[in-house]
Amino acid sequence: MNKYFKALDDLSRERLHHLIDGFLKKKTGFIGYPCSQDIDYSELSNLLKVVSNNIGDPWGDSSFSLNTHEMEREVLNFYIDALNAPKDNIWGYVTSGGTEGNMYGLYLAREIYPDGIVYFSEDTHYSVVKIIHILGINSMMIRSHENGEMDYEDLKAKIETHKDKPPIIFANIGTTMKQAVDDLDKIKAILGYFSIEDFYIHADAAFAGGYLPFVDNPPAFDFNAGIHSISISGHKFLGAPIPCGIALALHSNVQKIARSIEYIGSLDTTILGSRNAITPVILWYALKGYRGAEGIRAMANDCLETAEYGVKIMQQAGIHAWRHANSLTIVIPRPSDAVLRKWALAPNKDIAHIIVTNHVTKETLERLTDDLVEDYRIYNRQAAE
Ligand SMILES: *Cc1c(COP(=O)(O)O)cnc(C)c1O
Repeated sequence: MNKYFKALDDLSRERLHHLIDGFLKKKTGFIGYPCSQDIDYSELSNLLKVVSNNIGDPWGDSSFSLNTHEMEREVLNFYIDALNAPKDNIWGYVTSGGTEGNMYGLYLAREIYPDGIVYFSEDTHYSVVKIIHILGINSMMIRSHENGEMDYEDLKAKIETHKDKPPIIFANIGTTMKQAVDDLDKIKAILGYFSIEDFYIHADAAFAGGYLPFVDNPPAFDFNAGIHSISISGHKFLGAPIPCGIALALHSNVQKIARSIEYIGSLDTTILGSRNAITPVILWYALKGYRGAEGIRAMANDCLETAEYGVKIMQQAGIHAWRHANSLTIVIPRPSDAVLRKWALAPNKDIAHIIVTNHVTKETLERLTDDLVEDYRIYNRQAAE
């Protein structure tokens, strides 16, 4: 540090270490949020000795040369391949997280169809209502099925009453609570039924997008399936220790919003100005360490097997636990607040979920199952089917 900066006093240093040690102890039991915690990116720690910045468009020049645009492009190219994006018409950047990527998709959609209507299901992430509000777009909420998927009959009925306005479909590729995947084939069939040609489909694949491209039988959710943009979080399945994400969108649509800015020597195509230059390196490091698709596929398959095991032992214990195909989210009846707190489980009305990322072991799920059985017994909850 510079001469004005003094080493921490003992009390402050103790507080700092207490915080960090506490995190490291707590992370293995942290199973309610979709973040892989079995990670170690400390090889990158010297990046904390420089003020880097990825301001501007990662695909062009930037006058701020302390940037990691090259690694950012490598990360994006990996997902461009994995998501079958059209090579001659794709653009993307590393975002601050899934929320920004969703905002980006809806921002483009609004620029193309200013009088469009966003259709999103009631199981959609809570941040989307805020995004729609900020962007000032018209929207309609669609009912969901019990399993978390959009109710396609309701979508059809609502589109029919607003046929004159271009539909902007906000498709969930793994809802937050139940990891349900909206069926793009069914959605496109509805658009086709009304002969609608002006429409936009954005895919919110915050968590599942980190691994679904690499599983054996993925649902149709990528650019081959007709999406116009997608958002994936980097801190969820890939376990980036700083929130970040990937947004990809058709380049022809991005060109409509690009402006050249002399001060930064770059195109202003992103939502934020200054952008994190460390998170693209984190994602790059992850992709190198996992040897690309190969390691991610193996890790995802291990997690899927553990999730299946978890559902099996919970059902054997009389708990109404379930999960979708290809899903790492186990849905259970809502336990007491004490159990929610102990395991950092996220509740929603009468359910809660466990998310089986790379630090969640079978043994952890066994201990949780014991806690749940006891808890449902004490609180006389409807645990059995
Ligand atoms: C987590 C999540 C988001 C928000 O992503 P952040 O990375 O937290 O900004 C959006 N949609 C879904 C389905 C999510 O699970």
